[in-house]
Amino acid sequence: MKILRTIAEVRAAVRAARAEGETVGLVPTMGAFHEGHLSLMRQARAESDLVVVSLFVNPTQFGANEDLSTYPRDEARDAALAEVEGVDILFAPAAAEIYPDGFATNIHVAGITEVLDGAIRGAHHFDGVATVVTKLFGIVTPDVAYFGQKDAQQVLVVRRVVRDLDLDVRIEACPIVREPDGLAMSSRNVYLDADARAQASALNRSIDAAEAVLASGQNDGESIRAAADRVLADASIDVEYLELRDAETLQPVDAVERDALLLVAARVGAARLIDNHLLRGVAS
Ligand code: AMP
Repeated sequence: MKILRTIAEVRAAVRAARAEGETVGLVPTMGAFHEGHLSLMRQARAESDLVVVSLFVNPTQFGANEDLSTYPRDEARDAALAEVEGVDILFAPAAAEIYPDGFATNIHVAGITEVLDGAIRGAHHFDGVATVVTKLFGIVTPDVAYFGQKDAQQVLVVRRVVRDLDLDVRIEACPIVREPDGLAMSSRNVYLDADARAQASALNRSIDAAEAVLASGQNDGESIRAAADRVLADASIDVEYLELRDAETLQPVDAVERDALLLVAARVGAARLIDNHLLRGVAS
């Protein structure tokens, strides 16, 4: 595995692979790898000839009061884990390589970025995501890019950028990888102390409770949401949002008639956690 720092080096490596007729898979990350990241790398490895993983803690997607300065960073550990997964290139640029002096472009997706995490974290968050992902697509020119369903709203934002800007890349959304107690893996889980870690499993339990209501034949949003809400309240979780939304448009829905997402964000101890679950549509 090569660790590359510059855009020019990545372009040269991709050009050489393309000359051999190879396909290119990209896994964008901010590092602090866990099984969620590794599952994306495995899928890329299984499907692409050249696997590029980007490791870049993108400053523009963090708000002023967020955790940019404390975000977990351990490039040596990450490189070792990526190497085991058979990654070909770890692209780990400095911030100035991605945002040189005079950088002035911003990719803003309207609508779906204004709700949920966009509303809580502010417009800069998904603008930062959309802009850096568009740059990574320009640098790596992947055939396929792999994202985690863990960040469901991010997947929809990236898909919209690709569609609206006619980018020639296929977006693969990979399933959420969870701890044995159901907690969705996240680089931010390291912020949880023992009490908060125990409390955090309520997020997934709330999703299970919602799924159980749907499985019992009730598809109305109020019953589904109430079941999830009860679990979170019982665990004294400080909920930022718990919402049932159309799985494609993120519009609020009253019933799960088409596929819907139950999305939750909460403050647990020192961490801000998000989770979600696809509820399969059942016409009433
Ligand atoms: P991050 O480093 O947090 O920006 O995540 C990099 C990629 O890994 C994103 O596409 C995430 O959605 C994905 N990811 C993070 N956690 C998980 C998880 N628990 N399961 C699946 N994918 C994940």
